[in-house]
Amino acid sequence: MKTKVAFFDFGGCEGCQLQIANLEEDVLELIDIVKIVSFREIMKEHSDDYDIAVIEGSIMRPMDEERLKKIRKNAKILIALGACACLGGVQRMINQWPVEESKETVYGNSEKIKDNPYFDNFHTKAVDEVVKVDAYVPGCPIDRNEFVRILIAIIQGKKPPLPDYPLCVECKKKENICLFEEGKLCLGPITRAGCNAICPSYGSECEGCRGFISHPEERAYKEVLEKYSISVEELLHKKSIFNYRYIEKKRDKNE
Ligand code: SF4
Ligand code: SF4
Repeated sequence: MKTKVAFFDFGGCEGCQLQIANLEEDVLELIDIVKIVSFREIMKEHSDDYDIAVIEGSIMRPMDEERLKKIRKNAKILIALGACACLGGVQRMINQWPVEESKETVYGNSEKIKDNPYFDNFHTKAVDEVVKVDAYVPGCPIDRNEFVRILIAIIQGKKPPLPDYPLCVECKKKENICLFEEGKLCLGPITRAGCNAICPSYGSECEGCRGFISHPEERAYKEVLEKYSISVEELLHKKSIFNYRYIEKKRDKNE
């Protein structure tokens, strides 16, 4: 019997689901073992009878929390898909301002949004801050092949494969010149590998969209920063786009 999988989108750009919709020939690895019962981007049909729920996007409104909790109740396994779901995404940066101020800046003072649940947003959360998550597929967007590997492992009852070493390992294997040598600032030493260092390979600094490894060598990273005369404050200021969750945690710990 095929495992029934349903996809759900919350606050995000739907780019991660698009990666899956674009699986092309790799979809052959899945069609024998998986039946997709809900996937708004590619099909009209919808069913609430599923084994695995795949959640894309961050949780931004009370109505989203309620919807997510219902999905969790229906699912045996829940997968967080992409940086928005795993970390809260770029939009999590909104958490640094009061909700009302952000709302007014974005939507103005319109009467139409008052008491309208669609605009009733609070601070942005990752999926695992609302419900239990069984597996994570990191990245912005995700790597579709990694998604296939993780999904197959889950269906086979195995631990989802996810590298837990820093991106620099992959970058060095590709013999890239380190971007610090070019005066750039990179999150590679603490970011989870698995993207094959695609950004540094094209000269772009790693922004940490795959989140940090479970035990980052913070002291060693500080030494690298010192060597290139970069302060931790500067790092946090320039590189919080995907990891504002980490800054919040640090701040809460210090309070
Ligand atoms: S993780 Fe990136 S690609 Fe995926 S939904 Fe969020 S913004 Fe879009
Ligand atoms: S460019 Fe970034 S990922 Fe590559 S070695 Fe330097 S710090 Fe690490």
